[in-house]
Amino acid sequence: MDIKNYINGNFQNPISNNWIDNYNPSNGEVYGQIPNSNKEDIEQAYQSAKSAFKLWSNTTLEERSRIMLKISELIEANLDKLAEAESKDNGKPLWLAKAVDIPRASSNFRFFANAITQFASESHESIGQNAINYTLRQPIGVVGCISPWNLPLYLFTWKIAPAIAAGNCVVAKPSEVTPMTAYLLGDICNEAGLPKGVLNIVHGLGTSTGQAIIEHPNIKAISFTGGTTTGAHIAKIAAPMFKKLSLELGGKNPNIIFADCDYEDMMATTVRSSFANQGQICLCGSRIFVEASIYEQFKTDFVNKVKALKVGHPSESDTKVGALVSKAHLDKVMSYVEIAKEDGGIVLCGGNSVTIEGYENGYYMQPTVIEVPTDECRVNQEEIFGPVVTIMPFNTEKEVLNMANKVVYGLSATLWTNDLKRTMRISNQLQAGIVWVNTWLMRDLRTPFGGVKNSGVGREGGFEALRFFTEPKNVCIKY
Ligand code: NDP
Repeated sequence: MDIKNYINGNFQNPISNNWIDNYNPSNGEVYGQIPNSNKEDIEQAYQSAKSAFKLWSNTTLEERSRIMLKISELIEANLDKLAEAESKDNGKPLWLAKAVDIPRASSNFRFFANAITQFASESHESIGQNAINYTLRQPIGVVGCISPWNLPLYLFTWKIAPAIAAGNCVVAKPSEVTPMTAYLLGDICNEAGLPKGVLNIVHGLGTSTGQAIIEHPNIKAISFTGGTTTGAHIAKIAAPMFKKLSLELGGKNPNIIFADCDYEDMMATTVRSSFANQGQICLCGSRIFVEASIYEQFKTDFVNKVKALKVGHPSESDTKVGALVSKAHLDKVMSYVEIAKEDGGIVLCGGNSVTIEGYENGYYMQPTVIEVPTDECRVNQEEIFGPVVTIMPFNTEKEVLNMANKVVYGLSATLWTNDLKRTMRISNQLQAGIVWVNTWLMRDLRTPFGGVKNSGVGREGGFEALRFFTEPKNVCIKY
């Protein structure tokens, strides 16, 4: 199925008429073409967004909210179609797309449709000076949103919804390897009555289409989710133009397990936090540290559970691990198994690619557990972003905190313990933007989301996102 750019409410071919193959990761076949857009397409999208801005920024909050709620409803109404498209494009199990990804895209619109009606700014009376200050929160204008392939519609809408709720118009680019649901969103926006030009979706390669968004002098804010290297590159280009940046980048998240935790709950959740979405979630707990007194028991039980996970075609309801997103990504993830062995790691299970009958050219890999001799080896330091986790024991709180923090990343951390004082001591000291205690990936959309260190700059979620997508202007009136 071929897709088109969505500019000014219309679907159109790329100006250059250049196209890129779109692969189905479950069987390795090309199943459609996507636009290979260039600077001219981005300029057209920008002009369309610019023309729409006056109308949209002056549209009442109630009306913006009404249209966004309609988009949310239509996403829900198209659940099956969107989930099938997401699964086919990305390789994730269909049940996962149906249960999590697409419902979350709908929630993103619903949440920000409501949040904008509650978003208040400050006022300060300057007592004794007969003056009052109040702060306006004005939309920025045309903003750029660039999202990755792992949770395609989920993360795309996590940016677009707050951007348009705040009154901006958007030029957006989904990942070129998973463009399908972003394409389908265009129709939904038209049906919901979103005015033409408020949202423009341009498809193509990061290094050309994405780069053109970053380089555009009048796109004054960029919300980006993706790899740390790309984030650093974007920051370099954006800095001389003083663009506002929100960067949600990579992670290498610790999962710290103490002997006093609820063992069954911890075990079931740890399997999920290791291998959900084939381990391709920036929040996956890819470094597992287990208190020495339960380490051997954990190792046996965990490996048994991981061996039982079914690797299969995404459409099968009992598939727990679907296909990785691309051949290049599968090769990269597989290469880390060799790197681990060279560093003295022991592969406790997995470590191989998988051939599935009928889908021999798909990008499948066994969920892999590697016991590492030290926390400093490469598999413990570098983001792999696939179905590979490391495990190792620890003896003291101090030791595990030191290992947990000894990476360049600081996105999230998970802690398993029933000791409240320990929970607070460790949570306070973990270098991470998000800490989960006795759970994982439990999300409340009102909370700030983002990382420290090389995991990014800024926060998404709740009013943080609305603050990012608005400029504060203080007005001081003497009376
Ligand atoms: P990339 O950084 O490769 O790409 C992310 C997006 O940026 C894609 O749309 C990509 O386009 C685009 N892009 C690439 N190069 C440029 C450029 N020069 N200028 C502008 N845009 C560009 O990341 P992946 O897609 O591989 O995603 C995986 C990464 O995302 C992992 O590191 C993961 O940790 C991180 N991530 C972070 C999250 C967070 O919230 N912190 C959440 C989810 C993922 P294209 O794909 O077409 O090349």
